[in-house]
Amino acid sequence: MPIIPFGTGTSLEGQVNAPFGGISLDLSHMNRILTVHAEDFDCVVEPGVTRKALNEHLREEGLFFSIDPGADASLGGMAATRASGTNAVRYGTMRDNVLNLTAVMADGTLLKTGNRARKSASGYDLTRLLVGSEGTLGIITELTLKLHGIPETILSAVCPFATIEGVCNATIAAMQIGLPLARIELADAVQIRACNAYSHLAIAEAPTLFLEFHGTASSTREQVEAFAEIARNEGGGEFRWAERPEERTKLWQARHDVYWAVMGLRPGVYITMQDLLYGLMLPSGNDAALEIAKNVDGSVEAFVARMNEKAEQLGLRDTHFTNPHGLDSRRHYSSAYDLAMLGRYAMGNEAFRAIAATQYYHLAPPSDYTLHNGNSLLASYAGAEGIKIGWTDEAGWTFVASAVREGRRVIVAVLNSDDRDGDAAALLDWAYASHDWAVISPQTARTLQLARRIGETTPLERYLRVCG
Ligand SMILES: Cc1cc2nc3c(=O)[nH]c(=O)nc-3n(C[C@H](O)[C@H](O)[C@H](O)COP(=O)(O)OP(=O)(O)OC[C@H]3O[C@@H](n4cnc5c(N)ncnc54)[C@H](O)[C@@H]3O)c2cc1C
Repeated sequence: MPIIPFGTGTSLEGQVNAPFGGISLDLSHMNRILTVHAEDFDCVVEPGVTRKALNEHLREEGLFFSIDPGADASLGGMAATRASGTNAVRYGTMRDNVLNLTAVMADGTLLKTGNRARKSASGYDLTRLLVGSEGTLGIITELTLKLHGIPETILSAVCPFATIEGVCNATIAAMQIGLPLARIELADAVQIRACNAYSHLAIAEAPTLFLEFHGTASSTREQVEAFAEIARNEGGGEFRWAERPEERTKLWQARHDVYWAVMGLRPGVYITMQDLLYGLMLPSGNDAALEIAKNVDGSVEAFVARMNEKAEQLGLRDTHFTNPHGLDSRRHYSSAYDLAMLGRYAMGNEAFRAIAATQYYHLAPPSDYTLHNGNSLLASYAGAEGIKIGWTDEAGWTFVASAVREGRRVIVAVLNSDDRDGDAAALLDWAYASHDWAVISPQTARTLQLARRIGETTPLERYLRVCG
């Protein structure tokens, strides 16, 4: 049974998804800051402490924790994803800032990966192995983290450039002369337009560097002068400075909000994953399938390749997808058995189940219209949960239907039927009346038995297709 740790759920690549089901273990309540060793510049925390909560706590001590990935993520989640962020150029990533950790392994062993001594080279570097392991190797229950002194002076600035090339050259030159930049991030002109609109800024729309300098008053001044000279030589324009904490926060918040800002560039096209998944339920859900494919894997072909890999992993030997919609495609093939197994896998996912069972789904404005699920069993068959209707040239009208009665879920697949609802209902009735029957399987004698029994009242060949 997979156990999937959950920090604050901000990870962007689906890390907290449960493709094979399992237990979601929420660590957000393990949120105690156990010790701060101010003179040693480290602290020991539980995994549910968020980076903002830690920095709030440390402020009085004149210390800060340097990794800032934008989201107010949990430190356990940040270690598990090896988070970096805008400060990485100077302070490194989680890889450099976790001194040791404690984790519970799959067999229940409690593993402590090291001690607080920085000068230690003995044994395997298990800390680095667990940092970035995304919950797959163990559950982090405690972390010892490096801290830094809050600099005497912090100066943030944005600097526009004539070209992206100029930005890159200036950055390389600054690194080459060893300027201790604390943050340096590039946003192109389109990105700046998005940030201006979303974060109410008024920055010139040009390739722009976001910068931050840390140090004493005199050392930051020197850094700024050195960088300004480099920038001028590479077509850099006027700096816009932010010294007061609230101005700095506004500037960097705009940088951290670029994800939302970019979405705002095309107002009205925001569409939720739920909208898309609901679209997939419909026989005409190709548009939704194409959108999902492109967003998840970058291209339709890559997504279809992933579907076929997944089908193989699930042991679906008769299935070959050619289209992200699954059904509705010329060279797509599958057997009823495979479709029923696929249905069983999909219905194991609570979110999918809820979407599949929705008969009318209203898309929010500006779309503002209602989609209708053509699975009429939802309204006419007791306990029906729906799955999917489609057409393929190989099999004609195809229907995978699911229903639950008295705690028993039965999934049937009907291929090549001109009365798909009637056939699916007959098959479901038959399955519920036969108490020991669980899933259609072409490998067992029961399949034939099923076909023969139904064949007593309806033409046999319709159900032979059903049985795979
Ligand atoms: C707007 C935005 C901007 C971002 N920018 C950046 C960026 O610039 N750079 C960057 O690196 N990242 C960036 N991120 C991603 C960020 O690093 C992650 O979202 C964050 O690290 C995940 O932390 P979390 O607590 O939300 O973890 P979750 O999302 O809850 O979990 C993430 C993974 O860690 C595992 N996990 C969680 N807790 C534990 C634990 N205690 N033990 C073992 N495994 C655990 C989970 O199972 C999952 O696999 C950004 C995210 C957002 C939303």
